[in-house]
Amino acid sequence: MRTPFVAGNWKMHNDLAAGRELVAGLKAKVGKDCKIDVAVCTPFTLLYPLAAELKGSPIKLGAQNCYFEPKGAFTGEVSPQMLSAAGCTYVIIGHSERRHVFGETNDLLKKKVVAAQAAGLHVIYCIGELLAEREGGKTEQVVESQMAEVLSGDLKTDLLTIAYEPVWAIGTGKTATPDQAQAVHAFCRAKLGGIFGESTAQKLRIQYGGSVKPGNAAELFGCPDVDGGLVGGACLVAEDFAAIIAGGEASIG
Ligand code: PEP
Repeated sequence: MRTPFVAGNWKMHNDLAAGRELVAGLKAKVGKDCKIDVAVCTPFTLLYPLAAELKGSPIKLGAQNCYFEPKGAFTGEVSPQMLSAAGCTYVIIGHSERRHVFGETNDLLKKKVVAAQAAGLHVIYCIGELLAEREGGKTEQVVESQMAEVLSGDLKTDLLTIAYEPVWAIGTGKTATPDQAQAVHAFCRAKLGGIFGESTAQKLRIQYGGSVKPGNAAELFGCPDVDGGLVGGACLVAEDFAAIIAGGEASIG
């Protein structure tokens, strides 16, 4: 059985005071008895101080991006080794905003995934189609190439989670229906079987992301191939994120 995994993507939100307040609110609601895996992926500037706040908590820390070199003359970049040293367990790679706002390609993302795992980080690798691609019937083709061009059988699958995030559902309030999400997740799992082998694909978690809210989390996470979620807007309010985590726990039964 796969343990659901709910991660919050804070994006470019929160200064230190607001970050501390949000983490304190979450710690009050997510105790050691939490039945699922939980992480908050914060801006780089908050990693060191929030790692200290989260020490001993079941809530783990993640970053939202990294470069693929360990160090050097790469102005403005942060290496996977730096993220590990700051207390990160996770790093999001290939978020749609990295792909579509910053132009990150599958070639670049492949290097980042390998480098992040080499530094001991667990990668949340994001895939997902644009609205025009869905409307053009290209969803499967897009997510298949985003997996095939970046993932390979030699990756550490215990340090890998896939996040299926249809771009048209991110930050739009337009959530995929459970049927739409399940269909793509099942397709992805079958393709992951081709890359990693069937039994490993059955163990890999595939999160759903795109306007997950307290009101839709339990139904989405209850789909057979949906193993929790990657949450943007709703993770910025402690009560909402805690309710989404509760939706993940409910999906275990
Ligand atoms: C995200 O940023 O990964 C995301 C899914 O955002 P939202 O939940 O706001 O759609």
